[in-house]
Amino acid sequence: MIYLDNAATTCPNARAGLRAASFLTENFYNPSARYHGGVCVARETDAARNELLGFVADPEKFDLIFTSCGTESDNQAVFSCAKRGNAVTDAGEHAAIRSAFSELKNRGVEPRIAPVNSDGSVNTEALLHLVDEKTSFVSVMHVNNETGAVNDIRTLARLVKAKNPRAVFHSDGVQAYGRIPVRLTEEIDLYSVSAHKIGALKGTGALMKRKKFPLSPFLYGGGQEGNLRSGTENTYGIAYFRYAAEEKFASLSADGARLSGYREMLWELLEKPLFARLSPENGSPYILTVSAVGLRGEVLQRKLWDAGLAIGTGSACNSKKPHSPVLEACGWDGKTLDGALRASFSPETTEEEIVRAAELMNAAVREMKEVTG
Ligand code: PLP
Repeated sequence: MIYLDNAATTCPNARAGLRAASFLTENFYNPSARYHGGVCVARETDAARNELLGFVADPEKFDLIFTSCGTESDNQAVFSCAKRGNAVTDAGEHAAIRSAFSELKNRGVEPRIAPVNSDGSVNTEALLHLVDEKTSFVSVMHVNNETGAVNDIRTLARLVKAKNPRAVFHSDGVQAYGRIPVRLTEEIDLYSVSAHKIGALKGTGALMKRKKFPLSPFLYGGGQEGNLRSGTENTYGIAYFRYAAEEKFASLSADGARLSGYREMLWELLEKPLFARLSPENGSPYILTVSAVGLRGEVLQRKLWDAGLAIGTGSACNSKKPHSPVLEACGWDGKTLDGALRASFSPETTEEEIVRAAELMNAAVREMKEVTG
């Protein structure tokens, strides 16, 4: 099977799994236990914390709390900070932010949604227009999971703070961390990441926060994670995350350069006009979204699976809706939305797989066109 759905999840890195395995065996202790075994596990968990943070931020200026997933990190950011006035985000966000923003209405906070450009990046001017003196929270994702568009979050955060210095700025970095170069500056208060997008396990995430930033707890209980996220830490998942991240960050720029070549190669090999391109050329090297205009993406997806290619149709979280709300917000017409297919890569993707994937996609679309006339 050729796996090109790495934006949905990645295959766990077996080397990282072997290195983390001792947290399932001799190092299984509870990191809150005060005896030597527990203290050692707590020390390793803190080492993972510092390393995962240090890849993208200065540990003197930022902290990291472990969570159960990117969705939890996003929810903690929203509900901890959007407590009054209005909160601003954009129509390109993942459901973890979009649904949390819908819930804000029930909590007396006005959600404001800025439009996106046709490539899925936020319309900066429109976003800033929505920010006023009553804005308590702004969230803009770093890399769009459906198109790969990259938002310049450092500039956006600076512009937001220039308009309202009290507004909290959060970014969902789930598709950016371990894939594109990231450096958090002090205008960015909060940044969400998830382990399973970079070769570690589902069910492990983290929320990075500016030091001294007054975050509220999300889960109450034993006071773990500096009282911000109670619950015994997933020490195996955290170690797995650390070791998988070590590999990703060691080859991040070489992988990015190679994969943007593969992304363009796939696009070149796809027959035009069978396919239209929805992803921008300057987006993440890891994502190419195209449309087999007029055909049904999910029918093609199943056909391609049978032929040996796993590919997305947009965000897996949207799979029960007829069209992706994000691609819809980009302004594409119904026929283009119907045919959306997302190819997403990993450092393990090979040139042969790209060539074969293009052949399979071209053949599947040609066949379906023949059947449907
Ligand atoms: N944010 C973005 C941009 C994502 O792509 C995803 C996962 O698809 C999430 C958040 C949710 O992450 P998790 O699956 O760890 O909850």
